[in-house]
Amino acid sequence: MRVYQTTTPGAELKLVELPTPTPQGTEVLLRTVACGVCHSDIHMHDGVFNLGHGKQLEVGRPGMVLGHEIFGEVIAIGPGATGVKIGDRRVVFPWIGCGDCAACKRGDEQLCTPGRALGIVESGGFADHVLVPHSRYLFDKGKVSDSLAATYACSGLTAYSALKKVGQLQAEDAVVIIGAGGVGMMAIQIALSAMHINPIVVDIDDAKLQAAQALGVSQTFNSSDPQAAKAIRKATGGAYAVIDFVGAEASVNFGLGCLRKGGMLIIVGLYGGALSLPIPFLPMNARIIEGSYVGTLQDMNELMELVRAGKIAPIEIQERPLAEAHRALLDLKAGKVRGRQVLMNTLV
Ligand SMILES: [Zn+2]
Ligand SMILES: [Zn+2]
Repeated sequence: MRVYQTTTPGAELKLVELPTPTPQGTEVLLRTVACGVCHSDIHMHDGVFNLGHGKQLEVGRPGMVLGHEIFGEVIAIGPGATGVKIGDRRVVFPWIGCGDCAACKRGDEQLCTPGRALGIVESGGFADHVLVPHSRYLFDKGKVSDSLAATYACSGLTAYSALKKVGQLQAEDAVVIIGAGGVGMMAIQIALSAMHINPIVVDIDDAKLQAAQALGVSQTFNSSDPQAAKAIRKATGGAYAVIDFVGAEASVNFGLGCLRKGGMLIIVGLYGGALSLPIPFLPMNARIIEGSYVGTLQDMNELMELVRAGKIAPIEIQERPLAEAHRALLDLKAGKVRGRQVLMNTLV
C-alpha cells in the first residue's frame, strides 16, 4: 500500500510504499475512495495546538498517516469479520477506542486515551488502503456522493454531536452558532434540515453570513461589530445555547457574552488560546461551559440514518487527487478553501 506520511512538523508529506496488511480476526481492509481534509489534520501536521499564554501542546510525530474522514471499498475481510462483504462501499467511523476502558464501555470511544483513532493514532486515509478493526465502524452512505459521504465521519459527526448537546428546546430558546466555516456550515444544515432549529449565525466574514442566509438562516450577526453580542442578547433575551465552532479567545468570550442565565456554551473549535473568567459568574449565572469532541458511535448511527433518509442538505465539496494531500493542507491553512476539500484516491 502507499501512504502519505508526516516527517518533521510542517514539512511536505512523504509518499511511502508499505506492505498491504492482511486483515486478521474481525479486521476489514478497505481501498480508500475518498478522504476529507480537516482542520485537525493541520494541527497534527504542524505538530502543535496553541494553548494561549505563549504555551503549545505538542501533538505531531513523524511517520503518521493523517486523514480521518474516510470512505472506501471493502477489498478483504478477516476470518472473524461479519456483517460486511467484499465490494461493500462504506463510510468509516474513525474514533475507535480500546474497547476495554470505562470511556469505551460507556459508549464514548472517541474519548478513549490514547485510543486507536484512524488518522490520529493509527494509520488514516491519506493512503490507498485503510485497515479497520471491526465492521461495526462501517456505515452505508445511501445515495450521497462518495466525497460528501466521507465528510460525515468528522465534520458531520462533530456538528451533529455538538447540536445534540443542546438538548430539548423551548420555543423561545435561541441557539447561536459561531463560525460558518466547514463544520459550522454542516451544523447549520443539520440544525435546519433535521433538528427544526433556525440558529442565529455569527461570523467575521459577511460572505459566510450571506451563505448561511441562503440556506434559510433568519438572523446573522458580524462579530467584528463590537455591539453584536449585546444585539443578540437584546434580540433573544440571552441565548440558551451557543456552539462555538472557532474556539478562539475572541469567539469564546463573544459566546459567553451572548448567554442568558442557565445558558450553555459548547466549544467545538480548536483554534486555540486561553480563557480567563471571574469564577463567581459561573454559579451566579448557572452557566455550563462544555467541550465537544467529535461524537460517539451511536451519534454516527443516528447521523447516517438521517443522511440515508435524505434529511441533511449537502455541503460544498472541492474534490482533489490524493497526490495533492500536502497542497490541500497548505490551502486549508491559508484560508483558501470554501466548503470541504476531499482527496480522491488516484493511486490505484
Ligand atoms: Zn476532523
Ligand atoms: Zn478505551
